[in-house]
Amino acid sequence: MLVVRATTDIVEQGIRKGDEFRLYIVDAHHHMGKEKSHRNTPSGSYDFYATLWFEMQKIAKQKLDADSLLFEPVRVEGHDLASRCFESNKSWARMNHGWLVDKTVVFPYTDDYAKSKNPQEPTFKVSNDKIAGWTTRAPHSTRLIGFARVDPMDEKKKRGLAVNELDRSIQKLGLRGLKLHPLAQLFVDSIEDRITKDIVKRAGELGIPVIFDTRNIATVMKIKNLVESIRNDPDCGTAMKGLRVILAHCGMSPGDSRLYDVLRDPAIFAETSTLHDLDVPVLFESAIERLTRETFSWSEKLLFGTDFSFLSVQAADVILFLLSRDFSGTLADAQRILGGNTLSLVQRPFSTSTGTTISPIEYISRDVDGKRQYALENSIIELFSGDQWDLSSLDLMLPPAGTWPELSTLSNGGFNGVYLNSYVMCLRNQKSDKECHLWVRRTVGNSLSCSLLSTSGMARIDTIENASQSFNPILLRTLSNHSITLNSSEDLAKKVLSQLS
Ligand SMILES: [Zn+2]
Repeated sequence: MLVVRATTDIVEQGIRKGDEFRLYIVDAHHHMGKEKSHRNTPSGSYDFYATLWFEMQKIAKQKLDADSLLFEPVRVEGHDLASRCFESNKSWARMNHGWLVDKTVVFPYTDDYAKSKNPQEPTFKVSNDKIAGWTTRAPHSTRLIGFARVDPMDEKKKRGLAVNELDRSIQKLGLRGLKLHPLAQLFVDSIEDRITKDIVKRAGELGIPVIFDTRNIATVMKIKNLVESIRNDPDCGTAMKGLRVILAHCGMSPGDSRLYDVLRDPAIFAETSTLHDLDVPVLFESAIERLTRETFSWSEKLLFGTDFSFLSVQAADVILFLLSRDFSGTLADAQRILGGNTLSLVQRPFSTSTGTTISPIEYISRDVDGKRQYALENSIIELFSGDQWDLSSLDLMLPPAGTWPELSTLSNGGFNGVYLNSYVMCLRNQKSDKECHLWVRRTVGNSLSCSLLSTSGMARIDTIENASQSFNPILLRTLSNHSITLNSSEDLAKKVLSQLS
């Protein structure tokens, strides 16, 4: 998280000079694997974010001297629970840095090993396995969100080859989105064809976001046509409900009015990597000008991304512009762009199809000072150093769509929309492959609710929106029937661990 300090009074936003705020930053575009001279692993990512922070401080200093920043970047802080997870193991602790960025959406390069010698095997199979290996185990599962990659041209070799690889990646491996690259996989002219449509339709049915590489407005228009054809296809009703498409690099056309016409589509978003220098003000000024007076907020449409390792520290330009006097949005707009939107698009807590049914149970405990929650978390973290349970994901709860709040000052709690103490963990038993959700949330009256749930079936948690109207009624009913209130002498951690033994 990036802590920033107001350099002046901002009367319209009720902000005083010296007020500090915390921004939760998510990188929506990041590669791991190996492509020619490019190589990256989780520790490479964290090192990159440390470098990015270092560079950002240098540029910020110049900008402060020129009095062009409204908010000064002050320091970075890790999310406490994720950071403690890294500290729990000696070999993990050295990677507990680079916390300018809290979460990273990770997908393969056009990897050196993406093509199999066996023509029956889909492209990117090994790459997707590797991404899952990196992103669905402690400690990296607290920081990384893995997306799959497939090659639509595989569909020409054998119908279903790419679609089945997508299914496997999402349902078996637990990846949570899809990256498609028309230029690298040579299907620019087939974006509107059935081979691509079948894949994007399936992604919509699976309820996962699709990020498309886009290098020009012509590609953007083809993707818009594809989305329209899915929308108008009576066979795609379910797909349309779950469809979210992200235009990586904003079509490299921040000044083109057609980009903003496309962004009026409720299913389409854009990501900022490659934009630098003057592109950056053009993007945000055009978005504010062309996407206001809509039923949505303009800043819900843009996602911060770095495209590391193809690009590196130019991502600082975007962050610093959002903190500058030239940016006419609010700090809440900046928070949505820098992280909230990407988390909202990923939306559902991690699960795979391998989960077995467990009996749901909820423990409620008074926890005025947070000590019980802290103790519970330490006990859970300890599990991950053993060989029985692993952590597949950590998803913090978010405000429901369209309700992102203004930010509170640090002295007032520092709430930035991301609920740092309410979350869903997916725990996976390494021996039985059993998985379950551990849902921890702060509730009214300084209470802590801690539930163990199946990841499948009707009584599962299928959203990270922190609002009772967002949860499915069967889940709430089941929990109220299986809820135990602990007296102060009872140890919450022991109770939860006994359920996991
Ligand atoms: Zn990329």
